[in-house]
Amino acid sequence: MKVMKFGGSSVKDAEHIRKVASIIKAESEKTAVAVVLSAMKGITDSLINCAELAEKGDECFTSEVSKVAEKEKSTFIELVGKEKTQKEEAGAFESLESMLRDLKEILLGVKMVKECSPRSLDLIMSFGERMNNTVAAAYMRSIGIDAEYVDTSKLILTDSSYGEAKVRYKESYQNIKKHFSSVDGIPVITGFIGANEDRVITTLGRNGSDFTASIIAAATESSVIEIWTDVDGVLSADPRCVKNAYVIPEISYQEASELSYFGAEVIHPYTMIPALDKDIPIIIKNTMNPPAPGTVIARNIQKHNRPITGIASIKNIALINVEGNGMIGTPGIASKVFGALADAGVNVIMISQASSEHSISLVIREIQAKKALDTLNLELKKELDSKRIEKFFIRDNLEIVSVIGDNMVGTPGIAGRIFSALGNAGINVLSIAQGSSERNISFVIDRNYRDKVLNTVHDEFLV
Ligand code: ADP
Ligand code: ASP
Ligand code: MG
Repeated sequence: MKVMKFGGSSVKDAEHIRKVASIIKAESEKTAVAVVLSAMKGITDSLINCAELAEKGDECFTSEVSKVAEKEKSTFIELVGKEKTQKEEAGAFESLESMLRDLKEILLGVKMVKECSPRSLDLIMSFGERMNNTVAAAYMRSIGIDAEYVDTSKLILTDSSYGEAKVRYKESYQNIKKHFSSVDGIPVITGFIGANEDRVITTLGRNGSDFTASIIAAATESSVIEIWTDVDGVLSADPRCVKNAYVIPEISYQEASELSYFGAEVIHPYTMIPALDKDIPIIIKNTMNPPAPGTVIARNIQKHNRPITGIASIKNIALINVEGNGMIGTPGIASKVFGALADAGVNVIMISQASSEHSISLVIREIQAKKALDTLNLELKKELDSKRIEKFFIRDNLEIVSVIGDNMVGTPGIAGRIFSALGNAGINVLSIAQGSSERNISFVIDRNYRDKVLNTVHDEFLV
């Protein structure tokens, strides 16, 4: 079987859903397929906006949710046609309307209590995938594709870390396998969502439908995962910042993980985990340009001879410097810093320590900066009072840039070339780290220099 996943940009309106269905139809005539769809582009953001408005008690959430309802229902009717909406697909249309009624009631509840917990937000976000897959499955049936709507909140078991729930693979694989053994037609599967042991809906993290596709493929031992999106493949850099970025024909699982972890949103980083585990190749394809070969992500790939493979970057980053002469030769401070941050749920993306031991730099998301600083000031008060640590210094409005490639392993001089090129371009680098895998050199810069940095490094290595 082949698992085909189409992202929000590929299903953003009726016209795109028609195109997607034609690709699925053609493929299903050649091989068995399972389809995973995201929410329509923009719907997840709208749902989050509704939840935030409702939480503030702002009545505007009603007009925002009505826009979502209007978009879903009009797309259904446009695709399926008025007559079939009232007859053959009346059940699916009713199910869409029932979801919309539930969504409005939940939002009303949020408004009443003026509180939207991460658990409620996951439930609210889940409507995007559930509604879109209901619409698309109905349309596919209306054009003669034997499509069956599948809700992954009944199959993918997760823990209760709402917003980024961890998948329990063993049970999820068993559920999926069992369910698929009795599906006759083409399963049209909700991306992005799962549920915990109590059957409470969870989500796998923004952009998580790619990950869902990989979970489905691994559970069903599929031969390939196709991720259909709005670009021709994985590019050497974000095409919105680097005009000369080009499609990488083949890339290893590790390189793809690093690129996506460091900001290339073309694929969710966790997608590579089940695929690598079962050795299933992933192909990135363009819905608007199906003949383009795309990018193959696999174990054994055709090597290229460039020193690096690609560049990516993460925005909205803050740097915390932990400084103090008293840290020199004093074991345990780093572990206290990381322990305190971990307990507070602050994710440290990158670390570097000067060999003088006088300072440690931690790179975190800007959104967690205040929490991080408050935690450190509280939990390391003793060290501050005794002057072992002088202060925690924070700087925001930064960006991490990562230079990635398997060919960097064991090749001397790459870091030298990167930082000479940046020096020549007059760019100040605030912190540097190299993973011990040698596949990644990451550094922190002022956000305003992002485009200049990406283009400078791209021109240095990838022309
Ligand atoms: P989908 O709606 O299909 O899930 P996404 O918006 O999540 O699509 O991902 C595709 C987008 O990722 C592209 O439109 C592109 O702008 C962006 N992108 C960022 N970095 C890269 C990269 N290195 N290669 C390809 N696309 C990238
Ligand atoms: N709809 C979800 C999001 O916007 C998941 C996805 O698109 O992959 O993040
Ligand atoms: Mg995506």
